[in-house]
Amino acid sequence: MQQPAGSQEFDKLLSPRLSATTGTMRLAALVASLLLVSATALPAEAKQPRPPHARSVGSPNEGQLQGGKQLKSSSSLRSVGGHRWGVPELVDMLTRSAAKVAKSHPGSVLTVADLSKRGGGDIDGHKSHESGRDADVAFYLRKGKTAFVAPRFAKIEEDFRAANMKGVTFDAERSWALVEAWLSDPSARVLQIFVASHLKKRMLEVAASSGASESVRRRAAEVLIQPKNALPHDDHFHVRVACPTRSESCENFAKVAAKPKAKSRQAKSKQSGPRPRAKPQASTRVKDISSSKR
Ligand SMILES: [Zn+2]
Repeated sequence: MQQPAGSQEFDKLLSPRLSATTGTMRLAALVASLLLVSATALPAEAKQPRPPHARSVGSPNEGQLQGGKQLKSSSSLRSVGGHRWGVPELVDMLTRSAAKVAKSHPGSVLTVADLSKRGGGDIDGHKSHESGRDADVAFYLRKGKTAFVAPRFAKIEEDFRAANMKGVTFDAERSWALVEAWLSDPSARVLQIFVASHLKKRMLEVAASSGASESVRRRAAEVLIQPKNALPHDDHFHVRVACPTRSESCENFAKVAAKPKAKSRQAKSKQSGPRPRAKPQASTRVKDISSSKR
């Protein structure tokens, strides 16, 4: 367990080799003065144990999470995933954005599914979500004119109706409000938001008609993407934030088939003997990695 900063200082003070009465008295006076200082002069946060510094290690599809934060449900956010850990930047962004949308559109509840495992690493059913920077988030929906929270992700057809959910449609206004909140978050930097093309187009139309700033619309046009070589992201957003500062070994983008390639190169060199050394390649990055998986 981590000790408050103040008590560590006390430990040092209480251990010196002071045996004489004067030493004890001096010590008592010092402790008393330190107690007074800590009670009056130190800022509030200095009295609390500091949480461990969170780190995103490696890439979204070959990574780990250290010291992550757990996403909690609230009046505006429903956390339903089996894996709810992420870097604080992502977790706080999700919490803040849900509250922001609920403020401008009362009654809104954001459904958030998987983030990462507590320590990161492989998760069944996902190709990424390994380093605490990915989250699957449901679209806002409505039934008629009323906000609707679906029991599961709802596939949105080209006409913006939810498949197999009678009367339920994509709520482009609130879904855009969510994207806008993500893109203007004070601490997280959004790298990618995977979403099907027809939903991207609809949200950008809403952005234009609602008077969103030119810069946020330009960013949205860049980061909202339908991954190539993957099924359309037509039933949820997959949002990915950038490496937090002080995560030195963090790689922003997913690696493409890094493991199988390395294995096949090794097998080849064993078969045909040593080869001239190839130029080291920059790690392959894609902006569109995803999958039929979430
Ligand atoms: Zn995902």
